[in-house]
Amino acid sequence: MTILEDTYRAKGLRKQLVDLLRTKGITDETVLAAINEVPRHVFLDSSFVEIAYQDQAFPIGSGQTISQPHTVAFQTQLLQVEKGMKVLEIGTGSGYQACVLAAMGAKVFSIERQRNLYFKTKDILEQLPFRVKTFLGDGFEGLPTYQPFDRIIITAGAPNIPETLIAQMKVGGLMVIPMDNPDGEGQTMLRITKLSEKELKKESFGNFKFVPMLREIGKD
Ligand code: SAH
Repeated sequence: MTILEDTYRAKGLRKQLVDLLRTKGITDETVLAAINEVPRHVFLDSSFVEIAYQDQAFPIGSGQTISQPHTVAFQTQLLQVEKGMKVLEIGTGSGYQACVLAAMGAKVFSIERQRNLYFKTKDILEQLPFRVKTFLGDGFEGLPTYQPFDRIIITAGAPNIPETLIAQMKVGGLMVIPMDNPDGEGQTMLRITKLSEKELKKESFGNFKFVPMLREIGKD
């Protein structure tokens, strides 16, 4: 079975997942269409296709996780992506979130700091029809060569709002970032709008739980 093989079973389960996400408050049809398009089962080591379409996070090796579909849909909905936009993702992980953004017509640039995961995911992405450029690096540094970005999405728990990333975002751009709560329990989802070079608007959207955003390339 090749990685690209998509079955009626998988398509049916995906449709059910989309319906579930609707009941959980995801209303943006372009986001739901992308979730319906991207085969999540190819990003998991498990051969049980059912597991891939449950609304759950799942281990993907190297101590990391593929985010829960609801979290992916929620962050993507907040990001308000339009076709042709340049989107920077911090935390490639499995590559699933990046493919959802690519399925919406975004030009996706994604950074992963964990070496083994970076190579594993790069290999999977090369076999899929979604255009995602991946980079091994420290997301805190962003991608100076490819800036400015219309949108930035961070998919790990961030200790602060990285100034370097704000600087690499266009005026009018949006950043969606799970920010560590002061009590150390999970993160608050923030959307930051860059109103001008100096002024940011911040909105918060409830609590989530992410793996930590760590500095520098590593194996841990
Ligand atoms: N977007 C992913 C979810 C990944 S979990 C998906 O769809 O599967 C978060 C990922 O962020 C992990 O793979 C972790 O290694 C990575 N990460 C943590 N700190 C980072 C940093 N500073 N730069 C880049 N990636 C980072």
